[in-house]
Amino acid sequence: MSKTTASTSVAAADKSKPYFPLAGSNNDGWSKEDSASASCFCGAVQLGFPTQGPGLVNTFVCNCTDCRKITASMFASNFTVRDTHLTHIRGEVETFSQNHTIASGETMTNYFCPNCGTLICIVVRIGTVDDFSLHETKLLPRVEQFTKDRVSWFTGVEGAEKFEATGFKARM
Ligand SMILES: [Zn+2]
Ligand SMILES: [Zn+2]
Repeated sequence: MSKTTASTSVAAADKSKPYFPLAGSNNDGWSKEDSASASCFCGAVQLGFPTQGPGLVNTFVCNCTDCRKITASMFASNFTVRDTHLTHIRGEVETFSQNHTIASGETMTNYFCPNCGTLICIVVRIGTVDDFSLHETKLLPRVEQFTKDRVSWFTGVEGAEKFEATGFKARM
């Protein structure tokens, strides 16, 4: 699917249709009825994922201090997919692991593209999804967690279920 030029801004795009703006170097993103692609900034890594249950488990924003550091932003916008439903289409990934700041003491491993550095998993990043309409429809964050660590100028995700700390009982 080629990038559309029908709309000049994400805000003005018709969210009922797939929308692939010029974003990074990837140019073969796709979006179907129940699955879509996610790519890193350079396009070397691409994943396929389900856009509805049971493969799509949850969508959430996290404001925790680790997410702020690792994304180099003020929050992470993520979604979780069952392993059995996630497709690795192409690209090698590298990992970085640490357990120093993880409350459970477990090691957290993050996967990223060795070429451009985009974070890919453990949870999938909403920002890597090629069809930008999905960011505001099927992947709209249902949960926002670690609101206690939220930056003061971000007012939070409207309509999401809010948690002061972790919103998930089971480890992801
Ligand atoms: Zn890349
Ligand atoms: Zn977090």
